[in-house]
Amino acid sequence: MTNPAASPFIADRLAAGRALSFEFFPPADDVAARSLEKTVHRLAELDPTFVSITYGAGGSTRDNTRDLVVEVSAQQSFPAMPHLTCMGHTRDQLIELLADYAEHGVANVLALAGDPPADGSPFTGDFRYASELVEMVRERTNFSVGVAAFPEVHPRSVDRADDRAHLAAKLAQADFGITQFFFQADDYLRMIDELGELGCDRPVLAGIIPVVNPASIRRFAVMNGASVPDELWNRLDAAEGDERLAIAVDAATELCARLLDAGVAGIHFYTLNRTAATAQICANLGL
Ligand code: FAD
Repeated sequence: MTNPAASPFIADRLAAGRALSFEFFPPADDVAARSLEKTVHRLAELDPTFVSITYGAGGSTRDNTRDLVVEVSAQQSFPAMPHLTCMGHTRDQLIELLADYAEHGVANVLALAGDPPADGSPFTGDFRYASELVEMVRERTNFSVGVAAFPEVHPRSVDRADDRAHLAAKLAQADFGITQFFFQADDYLRMIDELGELGCDRPVLAGIIPVVNPASIRRFAVMNGASVPDELWNRLDAAEGDERLAIAVDAATELCARLLDAGVAGIHFYTLNRTAATAQICANLGL
């Protein structure tokens, strides 16, 4: 029997044990591309279960995401998973993108709704919800499919119960989830309990962001309905350079330790394309 931990499918790798994964975004220019190449090589030494590459709002990084996924897949022994959004795409465009990925040996996708543009214009595209994309991926490919989860509830949700019902239904069609970042372990653990009450036991990886840049992470948090602890932000705002990095690393280490103790399915780091914080947190935890 083949080793599930070496499978190209993330679903098999997750079944083999607790996951460690890293998220990157496509670089904006050549300097950023060279820096990212070093980051990927250094973090590859930690033997991740997989890495994932984000997709710009409405497909704005479409080609860059695709090229980076194909490049990393060709160079590394672990899978590189593209993020893909419904927003801004027709059904045919999504089918074409998935076929291109399959041709290049990609075997996984993170299926997302995406967001309407920040200027207030409406959501465009043939699909509105991530679950519709999951269904199409299932029909058209043999890919492993991941989906997004929001421990503190998605900002567009009507209420908590509605959020959890749609999330449980989406996870039932998919193979695994990855959460938006959060800072209190209890938010994640409560979501897992609520999913369990709905009969959903799919693995959901905890999305962890080291707060190396508190101002921009606060902005993301507001957009994504994640609460930021004042006490941590006050300490980060008062520090700079190595001192700030140490505070960010200690806070994320403590959060991960609590999640690991509670039996989390895996830790997914929002690396922000940087090495230092993520590598240090993994070292602290012996990952
Ligand atoms: P959905 O699952 O469709 O949910 C969106 C809202 O609709 C929720 O409130 C849900 O409860 C509700 N809903 C779902 N189904 C139904 C239904 N049938 N009827 C009524 N309501 C319903 N965005 C990008 O643009 N690019 C990225 O690369 C990217 N990567 C991400 C990675 C992770 C791990 C996460 C957590 C988010 C990421 N996002 C990304 C953001 C994501 O696209 C947005 O948060 C988006 O608003 C929601 O996406 P979703 O897939 O969770 O949507």
